[in-house]
Amino acid sequence: MPETPTPAVTPALDGRAVIDGRRVEAADGRTFDCLSPIDGRLLTTVARGGPADIDAAVAAARRAFEDRRWCGQAPAARKRVLIRLAERLLAHADELALTETLDMGKPIRYAKSVDVHSAANCIRWYGEAVDKIYDEIAPTPRTALALITREPVGVVGIIVPWNYPLLMAAWKIAPALAAGNSVVLKPSEKSPLTALRLAELALEAGLPPGVLNVVPGYGPEAGSALALHMDVDAIAFTGSTRVGKQIHVMAGQSNLKRAWTELGGKSPNIVCADCPDLDRAVEAAVSSIFFNQGESCNAPSRLFVEASIKEAFLEKALALVPRYQPANPLEPQTIMGAIVDRIQLDTVLRYIEQGQAEGARLLAGGQAVEPVPGGCYVQPTVFDGVTNTMTIAREEIFGPVLSVITFTDLADAVRQANDSIYGLQAAVWTRDLNKAHAVARALRAGTVHVNQSDEDDITVPFGGFRQSGIGRDKSLHALDKYTELKTTWIRIDDPLSA
Ligand code: NAD
Repeated sequence: MPETPTPAVTPALDGRAVIDGRRVEAADGRTFDCLSPIDGRLLTTVARGGPADIDAAVAAARRAFEDRRWCGQAPAARKRVLIRLAERLLAHADELALTETLDMGKPIRYAKSVDVHSAANCIRWYGEAVDKIYDEIAPTPRTALALITREPVGVVGIIVPWNYPLLMAAWKIAPALAAGNSVVLKPSEKSPLTALRLAELALEAGLPPGVLNVVPGYGPEAGSALALHMDVDAIAFTGSTRVGKQIHVMAGQSNLKRAWTELGGKSPNIVCADCPDLDRAVEAAVSSIFFNQGESCNAPSRLFVEASIKEAFLEKALALVPRYQPANPLEPQTIMGAIVDRIQLDTVLRYIEQGQAEGARLLAGGQAVEPVPGGCYVQPTVFDGVTNTMTIAREEIFGPVLSVITFTDLADAVRQANDSIYGLQAAVWTRDLNKAHAVARALRAGTVHVNQSDEDDITVPFGGFRQSGIGRDKSLHALDKYTELKTTWIRIDDPLSA
């Protein structure tokens, strides 16, 4: 097997679970292989968690919650631990970034500058927020006082996908822990390593044992055991719409645990002829669909472009495509890395074949390539002549495939943009303020961008309408998922008004 560049740090790549503050093998000793999509090499073996391991982790989380070792601490004390954890992440940024790149194939430059830094920022932000949030007193008659307070839900199960493994975990564990919950996290079997390391760093930062447990394993084994568990109070899930629906069913079948789901997307990006800066619109359209190898839930995969600028737009877009030829993600200049595994690579290639079979015109890419032998890579791919009824416009591909749909009537473009089971994100490009407002209002999506397509900040909520999920990550709104609202009535017999 060819050598990849020697990294500056050597991550431990420990695949054992973290339960009750200790590294442990699966109860039945089973493991699975963790392969790198960069070149197919075996990175390590990982504990194959199942119901017994989930039981042990939930029991540890429950004990931690009941004896109040974390939820009983003052918000300012929880803040200090979370800020220390954010600092630990930054101190280990090279190691975490390398682990993430080896595990799921994203370019090392983004693993560090985006994933690790954003995860640390998220954890710090919720830490800083938690001692600045006040509860409410209701404007009731003076004969009583009604306190409206937020309490932690209890034991929170968290299931995350493989595309931003550390960051998706951070988006959920940070508000859950800030609110005082205990957590059992199940990372994706395709990229479990940084979540396991996160739990160790949390212990080093002073999080009491049992408060954050991480059980790796397969979805139908460890994941469903968590979603069905009778002693889990809430389940927060990020992943596909298909599995998200099962999560809600499992919540209902078991103990009616609160279920929150952040699911798939098929985001429309509408570029009008009066777009204020065509070069910027082209750059954004191309970079956003190819970022993270197209493995982003909010990737603007449906490009609606007005007919009169279509040719100019495509000429500029195709000139940018060669930049995104996949390369070894461990090289610092690489901007498109490996697809997470062979299964996902085959899925992407199947969609490309189907696009051609249904009559879309392949303008660029379409092939698997091997810049590193044994790895999983696909060329950046652009289809023209797509209609919104084609499979490649309706289903989430989760790969670097852009579908270009031409429009002449803006109202019809908006109607088509909304004609999707998803509603995660959308964008419109126009210099006409009235048009921008009207289209932004009409688009059925959790986030709408105007004249840009990738702005992002921890202060704003992220999540979808319709089958893109229920609930929001990020911002103070995320705390709603990890807290119960309690009303406490206190009778007031006012001696002064007797
Ligand atoms: P997936 O649904 O296959 O898996 C997600 C997680 O669920 C994994 O940990 C998996 O092991 C687990 N799982 C699978 N089957 C399960 C079951 N029966 N019971 C319980 N858990 C189960 O999704 P994926 O392929 O890992 O990730 C890609 C998907 O995630 C895409 O659809 C993408 O749009 C979505 N995503 C959404 C957001 C968002 O914020 N909306 C963010 C990132 C990714």
